[in-house]
Amino acid sequence: PTSGFCRSNSTFYSKRNPIPLPKNESLDVTSFISARAHHGQIAFIDAATGRHLTFSQLWRAIDSVATSLSDMGIRKGHVVLLLSPNSIFFPIVCLSVMSLGAIITTTNPLNTPGEIGKQIADSKPVLAFTIAPLLPKLAGSTIPIVLLDDDVNGSATGAKIVTTLHQMMKTEPSGSRVRDRVNQDDTATLLYSSGTTGASKGVVSSHRNLIAMVQTVINRFSLEVGERFICTVPMFHIYGLVAFATGLLASGSTVIVLSKFEMQDMLSTIEKYRATYLPLVPPILVAMVNAADQIQKKYDLSSLHSALSGGAPLSKEVIEGFLEKYPNVKILQGYGLTESTGIGASTDSLEESRRYGTAGMLSPSMEAMVVDPESGKALTVNQTGELWLRGPSVMKGYFSNPEATTSTLDSKGWLRTGDLCYIDQDGFIFIVDRLKELIKYKGYQVPPAELEALLLTHPEILDAAVIPFPDKEVGQFPMGYVVRKPGSKLSESQAMEFVGKQVAPYKRIRRVAFVGSIPKNPSGKILRKDLINCEVRVVSGA
Ligand code: AMP
Repeated sequence: PTSGFCRSNSTFYSKRNPIPLPKNESLDVTSFISARAHHGQIAFIDAATGRHLTFSQLWRAIDSVATSLSDMGIRKGHVVLLLSPNSIFFPIVCLSVMSLGAIITTTNPLNTPGEIGKQIADSKPVLAFTIAPLLPKLAGSTIPIVLLDDDVNGSATGAKIVTTLHQMMKTEPSGSRVRDRVNQDDTATLLYSSGTTGASKGVVSSHRNLIAMVQTVINRFSLEVGERFICTVPMFHIYGLVAFATGLLASGSTVIVLSKFEMQDMLSTIEKYRATYLPLVPPILVAMVNAADQIQKKYDLSSLHSALSGGAPLSKEVIEGFLEKYPNVKILQGYGLTESTGIGASTDSLEESRRYGTAGMLSPSMEAMVVDPESGKALTVNQTGELWLRGPSVMKGYFSNPEATTSTLDSKGWLRTGDLCYIDQDGFIFIVDRLKELIKYKGYQVPPAELEALLLTHPEILDAAVIPFPDKEVGQFPMGYVVRKPGSKLSESQAMEFVGKQVAPYKRIRRVAFVGSIPKNPSGKILRKDLINCEVRVVSGA
């Protein structure tokens, strides 16, 4: 169907050309990408050192590391943890692990040892890749470790270091290595997301899901070989993973990798490498608009033709401000979830982005429904309800969590996104609010349930709720509503510090209000919307 909307069953179809999906069941995403080889080109450049990898070197390295992993006993179904900032080696680890049918799980390097420990307990990795400075974050675990750098001084931490990636890259690739048959339905990645409620859960994405996303990326960008992308969004997140560790490799683009976001470094890297594409999250675009005059004076950004924004809503003011300050740069939007293995909708052109507020049109081969959250009734054009998505990149479910899976994915394959939207007569999706509990701080996921559970462990706290507080620069930050025990003199800053010591910096509660009670429904569920919407009576000192 090519129309934007099919009335008979309230399903919206993508207006983009459908993506071709390979029919052979026995296929892994690494082989799928490597079949689209671009041998002469440079695949990755490390912005800090200038070190680069051509596509030929990249595929040879992946072959060597896969052989070495196989020699170490890594087999189909084994989980391998990758704890690392962005680097040109990150995709090598992902693609070699997945080529064996083993599963890659990533985590934010800013996470605390406790947070990483929870992910390890859930996903049970048999091997971890990390860099020496992050070894203390794995101190409590007995997993054998491969170092991504050659700094073996890390052994001082008592960690069980088995080898280095560079050593593995010297392994002679062996065609006869043990290779289990990998099917498209086998699990490829386990990225963690809190979904619509509760704590972080492992999102099971298959090779089929990733292959569909590679095809979506190629279809979406219709890239010329030789485009130069800046990679500063994190590769551990679905956004960075599908762009830089899989999707773009199939297009022959060059990716210039920054280990983390730092504005001056990013701008001087654009200038130095004459970058053409700049994928970002909204808070960075906000900062680029605010400092545009100084930036333009200091840096030559004339090579840039496109900026992509994804991971969180982008306001009309920011798009307008960006277009005014950077008139030669097209701004494009992408909307997606970890659970949809990346892009679910996007704008294709500046003209589409100028429909301010839209997250774009459905990705190729993706379908949508807009469902009334109260009645469960499917709605029609221009009516607001929860966005449901179905398509070849929608996850298989949550890892070892059938309840969360059935409450998020229905039997017909529909994914409840937890986002409130309407779809207009032309098929453009407008995300208007978030129904689910998720808070997005600079594009990072902050699950309120996790912070509420921590607040409740404080001996002077009787009850607590955490909600998103809107902020122009970071998008949202967590705000806590706290009911103190009678007689308690706990202060706002003490409550924030109590949580702050136990979580990654991006999860910190940055505002607290003391209240007499937390509004709940009869079954005890926190009515977060009431807290967000109402003026709360501050009872500090009560
Ligand atoms: P994550 O799984 O971390 O990618 O988070 C997915 C959530 O981020 C979505 O369900 C939305 O709530 C939000 N999100 C991502 N991209 C956009 C966008 N372009 N506009 C509005 N919200 C977005």
